[in-house]
Amino acid sequence: MYNNHFMMKNINITAKIQVCCYEELNSDEKNIIDIAKNAVKCSYSPYSQFRVGSAVLLANREIVVGSNQENIAYPSGLCAERTALFYANSQFPDEAVEAIAVAAYHEGNFVDEPVTPCGACRQVLLEVQNRYKHPIKVLLYGKKVIYKIENSADLLPLAFEF
Ligand SMILES: [Zn+2]
Repeated sequence: MYNNHFMMKNINITAKIQVCCYEELNSDEKNIIDIAKNAVKCSYSPYSQFRVGSAVLLANREIVVGSNQENIAYPSGLCAERTALFYANSQFPDEAVEAIAVAAYHEGNFVDEPVTPCGACRQVLLEVQNRYKHPIKVLLYGKKVIYKIENSADLLPLAFEF
């Protein structure tokens, strides 16, 4: 029973994110990071000059790559994460997504600190995870550190769901 006048409370949200280096990853994790780094070459980013690559590992061991694809009408472009996820789901609709790696390249170098997915990509990641009832591991590459998130739900607390 709620009392309208005395119900204020705090919700403390936590997210489990491991900070690690490349050498600490297993061979699958290293592999998709390598592939995501390579995928930045296929980025079409003449407006931002910010190249992002992604690699998605599916349950059948297939690996799907994506990169950011920009457009002169800015909102018409698409992030690397969703490019790969939507391709994976459209080509392999029966295969759960096991993991996704993301790498970003700017001004001649990979970024030092990991770039994290935008809000829209987080929403899509969560729905893909829910669709296949399988947690998606997210690996975000930086030259100095790598962020490893075992469950993409940690990237989007209070997600839109109904
Ligand atoms: Zn995005």
